[in-house]
Amino acid sequence: MVDELAAIITAEHGKVLANAAGEVSRGLEVVEFACGLGHLLKGSHSVDVSTDVDAFSLRQSLGVVAVISPFNFPVMVPMWFVPVAIACGNAVVLKPSERDPSAANFLARLWREAGLPDGVLQVVHGDREAVDALLEHPDVAAVSFVGSTPVARKVYEVGTASGKRVQALGGAKNHMVVLPDADLDVAADAAVSAGYGSAGERCMAISVVVAVGAVADDLIERVADRTRSLRTGDGRTGCDMGPVITAAARERITGCIAGGVEDGARLVIDGRDLAVPGEGFFVGPTLFDDVTPEMSVYQDEIFGPVLCVVRVKTFEDALDLVNANPYGNGTAIFTRDGGAARRYAREVEVGMVGVNVPVPVPMAYYSFGGWKASLFGDTHAHGAEGVHFFTRGKVVTERWQDPRTSGVDLGFPQNY
Ligand code: NAD
Repeated sequence: MVDELAAIITAEHGKVLANAAGEVSRGLEVVEFACGLGHLLKGSHSVDVSTDVDAFSLRQSLGVVAVISPFNFPVMVPMWFVPVAIACGNAVVLKPSERDPSAANFLARLWREAGLPDGVLQVVHGDREAVDALLEHPDVAAVSFVGSTPVARKVYEVGTASGKRVQALGGAKNHMVVLPDADLDVAADAAVSAGYGSAGERCMAISVVVAVGAVADDLIERVADRTRSLRTGDGRTGCDMGPVITAAARERITGCIAGGVEDGARLVIDGRDLAVPGEGFFVGPTLFDDVTPEMSVYQDEIFGPVLCVVRVKTFEDALDLVNANPYGNGTAIFTRDGGAARRYAREVEVGMVGVNVPVPVPMAYYSFGGWKASLFGDTHAHGAEGVHFFTRGKVVTERWQDPRTSGVDLGFPQNY
């Protein structure tokens, strides 16, 4: 089943089969989490809060919830929400990306075969019109959205204005800080796999490597060597990187590369004009050095295989750079110094932090989500926050008088 789903993802999205199978297994982790979710739904109970009075809390489902997902993880992102929403007692309308819609149909079929009653999960296809209809629909109580920041902001504003509960996860610009004491081979491997995996079309992709102090020349050389050895091609044929999603995406990405050159960044490896046999919108892995925060290639979410290196002098400069960025999805620091890593993890204004881990996607029993322009709303996906999002709290305070006061003899002894 994993192989079948992975094949559907690769055929439509283009990412290599190993990455496609990886996203299915990360999605299955959420199913496993949801299977034990009763633990988080159970309430608390207090006895004798007053004379003959007890109180207890419970969490109840919302009703119908909508899940709207992006193209880049056609299986994993729906599975961040659907299993949790259903295990919490809701019915779900899933609106997948119009650019790779087939995996959602296949998932729905699997759930049906597994015994999910009709109507508990429905898949609706379409683009913005379908999203707008869900946002307007009075029966939709909550919306879990994942996509680009401008659309996430709109979905949050429109959804909440009509009284819906909304969590809207947006775009990203993730930085990987490399301190001078880091193991440079480990850091270079990490930068290449996190920068170019799935052709950079990941919201947790590393797009900026921040080289601190004297580390830059040596690091860039190692990153460049590894980047040159990557094979780009049809994701079904055992290469490292597939195509990007559409011709428009390729045009936008090559335009970003041109913008970087125009702004004065040093193009170490140029992925434009890559000749790959067969169909697909290919852009080769691209590496920029001497990128500065004023450049468009630094500011824009490129969402393609483009890695930018920014050189800074100190740890403080690196931290300031990351914290000044409007996005706050993921970040990583590479170092052998536990104290520096600890300070970074505590002071960085980003939702998910990796220490010597380039793509710190939390396990299903933690929650996934960014800060600032990477998430609109209060709650992150799956884990305890997911359960909170898909349920409403209720507290019952009840008084049951002593049974002898009813006047009906139920057989209680007088000295009970
Ligand atoms: P997108 O914003 O174009 O589309 C996302 C969803 O919104 C799709 O279902 C699409 O049909 C719908 N949509 C598109 N335009 C709309 C509009 N104007 N009004 C209403 N609905 C609209 O995003 P995408 O290109 O499919 O995905 C890539 C983006 O998603 C990147 O920015 C990436 O960083 C982000 N992303 C974020 C996360 C995260 O966890 N933060 C995860 C994955 C992807």
